[in-house]
Amino acid sequence: MNFIETRGNDGNLPKEVSFSQAILNPSASFGGLYIPKDLPALEDNFLQKHINSAYKELAFDILKKFEIDIEDEAILNALNLYDNFDDKNNPCPVVKVKDDLFVHEQYHGPTRAFKDMALQPFGSILSHLAQKKDENYLILAATSGDTGPAALNTFKNKKNIKIVCLYPDGGTSDVQRLQMVCEDGDNQKIIGIKGNFDDAQNALKNLLASSSFKAELEKENTKLSAANSVNFGRIIFQIIYHFWSYLELLRQNEIKDGEKIYLVVPSGNFGNVLGAYYGQKMGLPIEKLLVASNENNILTEWIKTGIYDIREKELKLTKSPAMDILKSSNIERVIFDLFGSTRTKELFDDLNKNSIFKMSPEETAKLQEFFSATFSDDDFGQKTIKEYLDSGYLMDPHTATCIKAYNELKEKPLKTVIYSTAEWTKFSPTVLNSLNQNSTKYADKDALEEISTKFDANLPKSIKELFSSKINHPLVINKENIEEEIIKFIRKS
Ligand SMILES: *Cc1c(COP(=O)(O)O)cnc(C)c1O
Repeated sequence: MNFIETRGNDGNLPKEVSFSQAILNPSASFGGLYIPKDLPALEDNFLQKHINSAYKELAFDILKKFEIDIEDEAILNALNLYDNFDDKNNPCPVVKVKDDLFVHEQYHGPTRAFKDMALQPFGSILSHLAQKKDENYLILAATSGDTGPAALNTFKNKKNIKIVCLYPDGGTSDVQRLQMVCEDGDNQKIIGIKGNFDDAQNALKNLLASSSFKAELEKENTKLSAANSVNFGRIIFQIIYHFWSYLELLRQNEIKDGEKIYLVVPSGNFGNVLGAYYGQKMGLPIEKLLVASNENNILTEWIKTGIYDIREKELKLTKSPAMDILKSSNIERVIFDLFGSTRTKELFDDLNKNSIFKMSPEETAKLQEFFSATFSDDDFGQKTIKEYLDSGYLMDPHTATCIKAYNELKEKPLKTVIYSTAEWTKFSPTVLNSLNQNSTKYADKDALEEISTKFDANLPKSIKELFSSKINHPLVINKENIEEEIIKFIRKS
């Protein structure tokens, strides 16, 4: 299947590209994104057929329906990475919490957050393509915490790939920082920046636009690519697990085949819930997608009013930092799917020029057929974490935002799956504040220990080991020196 562009074609880029072209060069005409020309429709008995499938079997079948230009062997190798999750037959278990409430745990991979679900297989596919084309790629990532560790892990020692990760020094949790700076792959460079996440992200944007930087890379025979969530190579793996949610409820005899369910997704860049939207279009019986946000509630405003207005907005730093966002990239793919490329270009040109776009009431009503949304603040999150642990379920602050949507947005008494995007271990000081109902500033190490002993919570070895691991990447620099550091790294390795 070929891929087309959300904002139409500018006459310079090809009108259609293959899957591998779309993931190697993810920027499309007019600043748009690549999307599949059509979504595959699944046969009527698709779910029944997979009722006993292992996760990898389901995944392989769905990927095949997209008719991507990747050989079966490479797809299978990529999917084999799910074997490194806690339970290889069930890499993302769906756990019953209340009569009608289930948690889909997406954090059982190597870096204990949902980014692994897509980045693990994506890294394998990208390295395969680079080797096949005999090209070298530099992956640049700026991270506020979860993407960095997941990208470093997936690209570690992968052939024809080098990865540089920029993080704000002091702006991530201890666990997230250690997951990066203790990495020991030959092809990795991790750089702390004196500044905040915006500084790291801006530095990355400047590099991507710098012609001297590109010229230097060319001399070293290296091309630039990105592993952020606008890459369709990540999105495609984020469709599969929503089918898994449904199959798990069928297997647990909680629903009958065809019965509709709600999915609640804690959202930032909208990649996770976009996968669910595509799943619904491909035939998954979903009543509605409930979008949960934190106090950076731009998605709630957009879905409620059809207006995306960031003119007066400032980013708030919350206790669910992976959802702290103003510009959410993947909403563009939904807008394209509903209203086409001409309208998408119009709306995003408005957003770029005026920091606002307005959809018509008819368009907004259409959007609301699929989505509804709400947001919660840190207080709500703290109370929720405590309330749910009191009845036996431990969740992280991102997952807690889903409970607000579950409480408020359901219009029918249907079974509901909420998505748990991070393990409590990645945000243990916040979780301990909730449980102890205080605002003590805990170090991650102490919070991890206290929670695991007091509440008998499982502490994975990979997290425990971090605190005695060697720091291989102590470098923290001013943002002016980033380009030079990266060039040095490319030349010597
Ligand atoms: C990335 C992330 C999210 C947001 O997911 P999107 O696909 O960007 O909407 C939510 N929670 C956690 C823990 C994350 O790492």
